[in-house]
Amino acid sequence: MRVSTAWVADGGTGREWVPARLSSLMRPAVFFDRDDTLMEAGSLPAPPPPAAPGDVIDPALVCLLPGAYEACAALKRAGFVLVVVSNQGSVARGGATTAMVDAVNARLADLLGHSVIDAFYYCPFHPRGRVPAFTLEHPWRKPAPGMILAAAEDLGLDLSRSWLIGDAERDIEAGIAGGIDASRCLRVGASLPITHAVQRVLSNAHCC
Ligand SMILES: [Mg+2]
Repeated sequence: MRVSTAWVADGGTGREWVPARLSSLMRPAVFFDRDDTLMEAGSLPAPPPPAAPGDVIDPALVCLLPGAYEACAALKRAGFVLVVVSNQGSVARGGATTAMVDAVNARLADLLGHSVIDAFYYCPFHPRGRVPAFTLEHPWRKPAPGMILAAAEDLGLDLSRSWLIGDAERDIEAGIAGGIDASRCLRVGASLPITHAVQRVLSNAHCC
């Protein structure tokens, strides 16, 4: 089942959002995890149940992690398509609606600068949810590669020249399962700040 959770910035105004469109161009992308990669999540106060700690359900709480803005700007200038791929099982658990996830994504896009992120994909499904429509295992849920494959198809991406940056092992597994070389799947954290990860991308990439 396909859900309408993929959006791209309107190339004309940069202020509006339209459904993702097919592209005939094969371009390299950098796939970003969202929570605790680009913005704070686990360090925020826990939201009320049934949302769980780490769920960001209020756009007012969106706060970029250090280096995220500069990282995305540098990659964009280098010609990469930037795609956010995020598990949002809070929807299945009843802790958030898809509209709330969209609002958080829109706030993140705003903070990063409109048109910097080309598309957001998220998976609202979880096999142990409370909301029947979203309670199932789904090929979009990382570590499965569904979001990456869907983005590649929608946006005409060359996965052989693409990268993935995330903070969790499931992010890395999803990238590799999607066909991104393991050396291009970077796990950020204390030992690899996002700024260093981006330097690695830029020093190895000939994307344009
Ligand atoms: Mg994360």
